[in-house]
This record gives sequence, structure tokens and C-alpha cells, in this order.
Amino acid sequence: MPSYVIPAKCTGCGDCVNICPSHIMRFTKSGLFGRKAYNAEPEMCWECYNCVKHCPQGAVQIRGYQDFTPMGGAVEVYRDEKTNRVYWTIRYRNGTIKYFVFPIRTTPWGSIKPPTEYPEPPKELLRTPYLSCEHEQLGGNKLGVELPRYKVPEVVKVEVRG
Ligand code: SF4
Ligand code: SF4
Repeated sequence: MPSYVIPAKCTGCGDCVNICPSHIMRFTKSGLFGRKAYNAEPEMCWECYNCVKHCPQGAVQIRGYQDFTPMGGAVEVYRDEKTNRVYWTIRYRNGTIKYFVFPIRTTPWGSIKPPTEYPEPPKELLRTPYLSCEHEQLGGNKLGVELPRYKVPEVVKVEVRG
């Protein structure tokens, strides 16, 4: 479900515009109530929820596309750095509301190793379902856990007859 900015709550601070990896959070032209952010291309939304968790006003909701959640279901998120928690409000189509609370998970700035700093993986791994650097990033090396063995499938040649 893509994000949706509630204009009445938006102060136009720009945090969501800066953080959106898809560059689809844009500003309206400044009007009577100042500039407002809006999701300009909901179909291109990665649904990463960065904007939702980052908005200091709680102005960004997650809403379903009209074709499969037409009755007003929505997800709201409030990130509280004082309590170090993220509060989720899930509004169902039938009026049911559920709340979830999770701790904020933070990663120290600069602590993530970029892919270029990992050794080049062996070529046979290219034909397995494993992601590049996956084993090391998940801490498998430190835990002394081996990657599960994966049988690389034979290449099947398909003969196309014209
Ligand atoms: S982060 Fe929130 S308040 Fe700031 S521009 Fe985006 S929607 Fe508006
Ligand atoms: S959910 Fe992610 S991709 Fe979608 S508008 Fe927000 S920041 Fe951008």
C-alpha cells in the first residue's frame, strides 16, 4: 500500500521529500496554507514506509489502492524518539482498530559495510538463491554457521523450432 499525506497535518518540513528513495514525495505549490507534501506517483511507491516513520507530524498514512481496499482501511505510524518506540495503528475496513508498539531499531551511522568492501563471491553462487554478501551480513561468519548446501540446477537447453 502506498503512502498518503494528510494535508491538514503536514507542515511542509520536507523530511519525507528528502528521505524518499523513489523521489516521488513532492511539494505542492505554496498556497494559502503553505507548501504541502504529496505522493506524486503512488504506483511507483516502494512501500518502504520511510516517509511514514520519519514524518514528525504523523501526517503520512499508508492507504490501499482503491481497487483492493476501497472501504477506507489505513495504517498510521507514530515514531516517538523520547520513548524509543514506533506506534502502529491499523484501521480495518470494518472499523476495527489495532495497535502495535515496537522499539526503534537504529544502526550507527557508517556502520554498514558497502557491497564493494566484500570479497567477490565465487561464480557458482550466482546460480543459487543466495543474495550477494548475505551470509556475512546476517552474521553467519561470526556464528560459525555454514550456508545450507544448494544444488545448482543443470542448465536446460530449450530447442526452439521455427
Ligand atoms: S515529513 Fe510530514 S510534515 Fe514534513 S513535509 Fe512530509 S508529510 Fe509534511
Ligand atoms: S513509502 Fe517509501 S517510496 Fe513510498 S513515498 Fe514513502 S518514502 Fe517514498
